[in-house]
Amino acid sequence: MLIVMKVDATADQVRDVEERIRTLGFRPHPIPGAERTAIGVTGNVGPVDPAEFEGLPGVKEAIRVTRPYKLVSREVKPADSIIEVGGRPIGGRRVAVIAGPCAIESETQTRTIAAAVAEAGADFFRGGAFKPRTSPYSFQGLGLEGLQILARVRKETGLPVITEAVDEESMAMVEDYADAAQIGARNMQNFSLLKRAGRARLPIFLKRGLSATLEELLMAAEYIVSEGNYRVFLCERGVRTFADHSRNTLDLAIIPSVKAVSHLPILVDPSHGTGRRDKVHPMSCAAVAAGADGIMVEVHHEPHRALSDGPQAILPEDFARLVRHVRAVAALFDRE
Ligand code: PEP
Ligand code: MN
Repeated sequence: MLIVMKVDATADQVRDVEERIRTLGFRPHPIPGAERTAIGVTGNVGPVDPAEFEGLPGVKEAIRVTRPYKLVSREVKPADSIIEVGGRPIGGRRVAVIAGPCAIESETQTRTIAAAVAEAGADFFRGGAFKPRTSPYSFQGLGLEGLQILARVRKETGLPVITEAVDEESMAMVEDYADAAQIGARNMQNFSLLKRAGRARLPIFLKRGLSATLEELLMAAEYIVSEGNYRVFLCERGVRTFADHSRNTLDLAIIPSVKAVSHLPILVDPSHGTGRRDKVHPMSCAAVAAGADGIMVEVHHEPHRALSDGPQAILPEDFARLVRHVRAVAALFDRE
């Protein structure tokens, strides 16, 4: 249910409505808007009677939300959300460029790549200290040491850093070092991790599962938001299909589909989305043309030596060209 307050409702009236929601055993989620405040109600198992609220001072109307996802839906919040990550926006006019290696492998590797992507115009640096790998024998990431390298690189480059948490324990560590936490495709429906992310101090970069529908992706985001963390941005990273010309099939049609029903920003990861270096540039440009709020690109100065995802990593000089072209496409669509 969504309770829409009158334009001239006072702060006290908003508080009284929130209190009434709590008294009924539900949870209030105030959503300040440009013109008026609305309050989302969650925690109810069946429908709530609008009459419970419609008589209260300051209340304009109480509306049932028809979608299965509530707080992430446009019904509840019509305006696009802009999420601040380390003081920079994700969502809105500017197309966010996130770049870095798949994994933090060493101090030298990380500093080399970070300096190059910063110089090329990336807005955020991303690298994994905890890697969810298909094989238990593959490189699992440097863990805490990787996070410490990331923190030093943030200081050096000034770029906010994003890194993946694979479980509740690593989420606690990531909170101490990064500006945003990534939840990867394999964990998109790890509900205990999603709930923990909902209580995290950081914005959450939530990637689409390998075979997740749009509704499943938004329900995963709803898990995080319903716990009180409203700072979530989504990422399309390709889904499993029969195609064998690429590692995954990048589903760009999900961008306008998400935009139609949700206020959350959605980015595109053409690196995992295709798995092949030569497809990263064209798919980055296409993503921005399709309305993506940003891209996430894997970059490595020595892809043949990379400890993970080498075949999809692009070289720093190719990344610089990519950023130029992506910014040009953004300008064509009245964005930055
Ligand atoms: C990654 O971003 O490096 C990663 C492992 O991605 P995904 O979870 O989308 O496979
Ligand atoms: Mn990767």
